[in-house]
Amino acid sequence: MRIYADNAATTKISAAARSAMLEAMEYYGNPSSLHSEGQKAAELLADARARIAKLLNADVKEITFTSGGSEADNQALLSAARLGEKKGKKHIISTAFEHHAVLHSLSRLEKEGFEVTLLPIPADGIVTAEQVKNAIREDTCLVSVMYANNEIGTVQPIAEIGAICREKGVLFHTDAVQAAGHLAIDVQAENIDLLSLSAHKFHGPKGVGVLYARKGIRLTNLIEGGAQERARRAGTENLPAILGMAAAFEEACGRIQNNDALAALRDRLIQGLAEIPHSLLNGDPQKRLPGNVHFCFEGIEGESLLLLLDDRGIAASSGSACTSGSLDPSHVLLALGRPHEIAHGSLRLTLCHENTAEEVEKIIQAVTEVVAYLRNMSPVWRTLQQTQEFIIK
Ligand SMILES: *Cc1c(COP(=O)(O)O)cnc(C)c1O
Repeated sequence: MRIYADNAATTKISAAARSAMLEAMEYYGNPSSLHSEGQKAAELLADARARIAKLLNADVKEITFTSGGSEADNQALLSAARLGEKKGKKHIISTAFEHHAVLHSLSRLEKEGFEVTLLPIPADGIVTAEQVKNAIREDTCLVSVMYANNEIGTVQPIAEIGAICREKGVLFHTDAVQAAGHLAIDVQAENIDLLSLSAHKFHGPKGVGVLYARKGIRLTNLIEGGAQERARRAGTENLPAILGMAAAFEEACGRIQNNDALAALRDRLIQGLAEIPHSLLNGDPQKRLPGNVHFCFEGIEGESLLLLLDDRGIAASSGSACTSGSLDPSHVLLALGRPHEIAHGSLRLTLCHENTAEEVEKIIQAVTEVVAYLRNMSPVWRTLQQTQEFIIK
């Protein structure tokens, strides 16, 4: 039996989402058509939008369906930048550990002449509202801070940051892709102006997401064409994916009340892995997503660790860009101040409601053995033992 512990990368589609999708395929009409087939599809689309809006405490007019989290992030940032530039405001504040969908959008804006301040990440992996406040200038048009980090799982003080942005009259975007369906989100109470989410991170289908944009915020289109999504995102709607997302989101939000049970598995896993000598938990132990565990092990190559765990039936992640073929350590761990040697030996285990206590024990045993095995045959480790010059004490 395989143990899947990489839910931050993507999740298994839920039975409810899958059946909602299959059912939606029967309704093949184009929601823009005036005939009955089209109108039935339009009705289902409106229903999905209403259900999703309700779960965010948003209005249906504030929900735009996108192809996923990356598109929503891109459109949110570009839109806020275009609005800012009209007022002569070309300064954007974000953080050093955002997802690349945000960071790369910011680089593009920088090339256009925007100035970007990336807030440094404190040791606990949580940016403070004070940092945001101090960085806001007269010409700041946007603050973009992720709700929860996709590698180390730390949850950011979104409501506090939202309050400051509202007070200062600066737009506030949050990439909530890791948080949506896992933590309760209320766009009104948290003063969120723009928010991105993605279905495949909460047991929905891949290739579909939402951009929430508060009423009155004019979006800039990434895709030109028909007038779908109130002319903010052209293209015939992917009804099966959207209905699958609505079903998965309702289910996932309903499970938030059971977060304590998931957090208990997480805490046991953290406790078990902390027993490994020269290991270090990344990010605050409690203010993190209920399923996220992220460690660095000194003297280990993250990739070898992953491959050996996979051989033992465990799907995990290094949480870093190493998997994409580059040997650069994760920008998140570097932002956290981990030296390269340490950042390379990282392991991210992300649990969901389907993981069991028994699986957690198996993971602890496997990681403990594999780390010892790899260290045993590592010349770097031998040197470290002789010199005792460990970075992780
Ligand atoms: C997965 C992820 C994204 C990208 O979402 P896609 O739907 O895969 O495009 C963006 N931001 C964060 C924090 C993520 O975890």
